[in-house]
Amino acid sequence: MLETSEHSAAAGHRFDTVLIANRGEIAVRIQRACRELGLKTVAICSEADREAPYGKTADSFLCIGPSTAAKSYLNQDAILLAARLAGAGAIHPGYGFLSENAAFADAVEKAGLTFIGPTASSIATMGDKISAKRAMKMAGVPCVPGPDTALPDEPATIERIALEIGYPVIIKAAGGGGGRGMRVVPKADLLHEAIALTREEARKAFGSPSLYMEKFLEHPRHIEIQVICDDHGNAVWLGHRDCSMQRRHQKVVEEAPAAGIAPDIIQPVGLACVQACLQIGYRGVGTFEFLYEDGAFYFIEMNTRLQVEHPVTELTSGVDIVQAQIRAAQGHVLDLTQGDVTCEGHAFECRINAEDPETFLPSAGVVTHLALPAGPGIRVDTHIHAGYKVSPYYDSLIAKLIVHAPTRAEAMARMREALAGTEVEGISTNIPFLRALFKDGAFAQGETDIHYLEQWLKLRRAA
Ligand code: ADP
Repeated sequence: MLETSEHSAAAGHRFDTVLIANRGEIAVRIQRACRELGLKTVAICSEADREAPYGKTADSFLCIGPSTAAKSYLNQDAILLAARLAGAGAIHPGYGFLSENAAFADAVEKAGLTFIGPTASSIATMGDKISAKRAMKMAGVPCVPGPDTALPDEPATIERIALEIGYPVIIKAAGGGGGRGMRVVPKADLLHEAIALTREEARKAFGSPSLYMEKFLEHPRHIEIQVICDDHGNAVWLGHRDCSMQRRHQKVVEEAPAAGIAPDIIQPVGLACVQACLQIGYRGVGTFEFLYEDGAFYFIEMNTRLQVEHPVTELTSGVDIVQAQIRAAQGHVLDLTQGDVTCEGHAFECRINAEDPETFLPSAGVVTHLALPAGPGIRVDTHIHAGYKVSPYYDSLIAKLIVHAPTRAEAMARMREALAGTEVEGISTNIPFLRALFKDGAFAQGETDIHYLEQWLKLRRAA
């Protein structure tokens, strides 16, 4: 016991105030977790978010810069200064923004604060999709066929790699994210143009022209595994999620568990993820993303942060993932073992976006009327209220509607009911589209692949 607490004090960092370097629904979610753990909170905002409701509930609230994210939520110096001024001992980066920025994690630690996330070196290894693939292969995790090295410049070598993998292939930016920086190549004569375009995009969007190539799987599902690790060599996986409902490689609806995957198929994959975490000395929460096709799993990337869809796993596992993440950063020993982890019932999450339900163009403006659903098994994570002004500067996510019920069919019925009870006026949202999707027969059956939603949208447009 004594050894554990000594170890805990040495490896962990004690803090009582957390600066939340984010905005929107996740700022609210993290603030709640902090308060429940007895921690004080510091909220930050850009000029566009001065009226944000989470500013009023935080212990301190500082405006750190202009509306453009580059000058506020991505401004590392301003965030560190705010932490110093407000007396924060730790920084929670949320998702997006600086959450997977190794240099920021390093700067936070160098400033004598705790970064609530993995070490800078874990972020750097897993943030580069090529080195992540290499690390996973070494840990025995199955990967999508293709080399775990960056594409060279010589056209002939590139052609040979594509032939070895077999068309169709996908070209991906090593530093890519958010569904951007990838291009499918169906046949050889389109290869070089696809590489030139993706390289340019990667250079501009991610600051690195490094690309890699892998097999383009034609009908996979996107299945991911949530892990949580402490600083003392303990790691568990909290079950799996299906995030195949995507538009432009971006998730729209997520569920836990993934339907129709037998425990003996997923179990070894979960254990391999845990092994990989122990091997790289991972700390905190993370997600291993896989494509699943014809009964086989292929690793695509790891997200070294809290994910938008974490609530579906919270509802099925009963674990408060944000609290567990903060406790791990405090140096606490994980208070659950793999044997304690269960999966109860079924959960769905809908991402409610401020966007046109037909064109998907962002819709900014004032929310003139808001009605949110409530009742057994319904959870809404949001930062908006009637009168809230949706700003054009940031991601269009305005709320997450999450439901939990004993079975998948019951959870779908509950989501239909929850969506029927959700009213947002003054701006356009994707709610009409989500309502229609939850009435779709194939989705109700389960096990649809990553292309299903785009095909469904095409058919709807044609009708
Ligand atoms: P990001 O970091 O931008 O989210 P990912 O590597 O996680 O990128 O891929 C996002 C999505 O792109 C996946 O969920 C899947 O739909 C699609 N995708 C990625 N790699 C492949 C592949 N090899 N074959 C088919 N689809 C892929």
